[in-house]
Amino acid sequence: MTTVRYAPSPTGRLHLGNARPALVNWLYARANGGRYVLRLDDTDTARSTEAFARGIEEDLAWFGVTPDLKVRQSDRTALYDAARDRLIAAGRLYPAYETEDELERKRARARLLGRPPIYDRAALSLTDEDKAKYEAEGRKPHWRFKLDGRPVTFDDLVKGPQTVNTASMSDPVLVRADGSYLYTLPSVVDDIDLGITHVIRGEDHVSNTGTQIEILEALGGKVPAFAHLNLLTGAEGEGLSKRLGSLSLAELRETGYEPMAVAAAAVLTGTSLPVEPYPDLDAMAEAFRLDTVSHGSARFDPAELASLNTRILHHMPYETARPRLEALGLASEPLWLALRGNLGVFGDIVDLATLVHGPVTPVVADEDRDYLAEARGLLPAEPWDETTWSKWTETLKAKTGRKGRALFHPLRLALTGREQGPELKALLPLLGRMESLARLP
Ligand code: GLU
Repeated sequence: MTTVRYAPSPTGRLHLGNARPALVNWLYARANGGRYVLRLDDTDTARSTEAFARGIEEDLAWFGVTPDLKVRQSDRTALYDAARDRLIAAGRLYPAYETEDELERKRARARLLGRPPIYDRAALSLTDEDKAKYEAEGRKPHWRFKLDGRPVTFDDLVKGPQTVNTASMSDPVLVRADGSYLYTLPSVVDDIDLGITHVIRGEDHVSNTGTQIEILEALGGKVPAFAHLNLLTGAEGEGLSKRLGSLSLAELRETGYEPMAVAAAAVLTGTSLPVEPYPDLDAMAEAFRLDTVSHGSARFDPAELASLNTRILHHMPYETARPRLEALGLASEPLWLALRGNLGVFGDIVDLATLVHGPVTPVVADEDRDYLAEARGLLPAEPWDETTWSKWTETLKAKTGRKGRALFHPLRLALTGREQGPELKALLPLLGRMESLARLP
């Protein structure tokens, strides 16, 4: 069965860039009848917090992403210990005693000699006596994975055939001197243990994939399919998290962005699909395919997010909006239909509703006073409907000879007190004759 995982570290709030793999994994699972695992990569105990872990789940729930399984790496140390021991027994994990300073000196020397600064594997030739001496000095080993050195190839579902040349890489440290694990080994162990069939993540992990395939094979695991997504960047191609770092999902939510607007921006930017709203993630899952993800950059334009949001609101059916309108005491279909076209974010409805329910301070220019008085006198009798506005203004046009802005704008200013706003055709029946009379001088 298709099984994917989204594996954030609970060391901060999710931002738009994180939403990309979070959602793409979900879409892939939905489209393939698969399972979605949320794996909290919390092996960095100093930086991981419970509050961040909760925040991640809240953010996913906001999109409607409900993991089939949730695991925390901090609960699974025994599995990693067992894998570590197997790799040691197989001669693939070896102890090394260099301090950070010593390693830095080695790198500097390699650079001077014009060699790539990769680890020289000196620790592989340590004798038992050498090791005992280090231990007697109080040094504890860190543990490195012995890379095979053969090119690792895989067929990336986004980027096509890939080759990672592990011969040009340092043997990665999998276990720190204090016994704690870096991300690499736990990730592989979990991918095997949880039966992950597809690893979908950011393209910053491509070289890790080379190492991880070697570790997977060393542990006898089945190598999953990989898909590396281009990273969202700012408009100039700069990293998203720095300049647009304020765009945490929580902040976007608080600002009033619709989850499907954020989802469309996070998923569709940098694909060959148009960046347009979808009614829900299931509809997006039907349209989305990994091979639509571009090999180039995914430049995010904040204006696009705003535009997605307004498009969603402007077409939102009353039934969809109703629960939220009820919470605001504004549940009325005609009110919603009259105002939705002017919403930037949903919460704008509170302000716009004052155009109907007041208070409104009519704006009346001196030169329009006579015209407005005439308009007042010609207000049609009730009942009013969507045709009332055109009937009224047609009559006014014929009587006064005014047209265009001179005909309409003074009416808007008097009736709403504002330069711009919702269509008066829809607003007028909501005001009713009494209220309209009260606003006309
Ligand atoms: N915790 C890792 C990250 O956030 C997970 C990467 C992966 O998906 O394997 O980058």
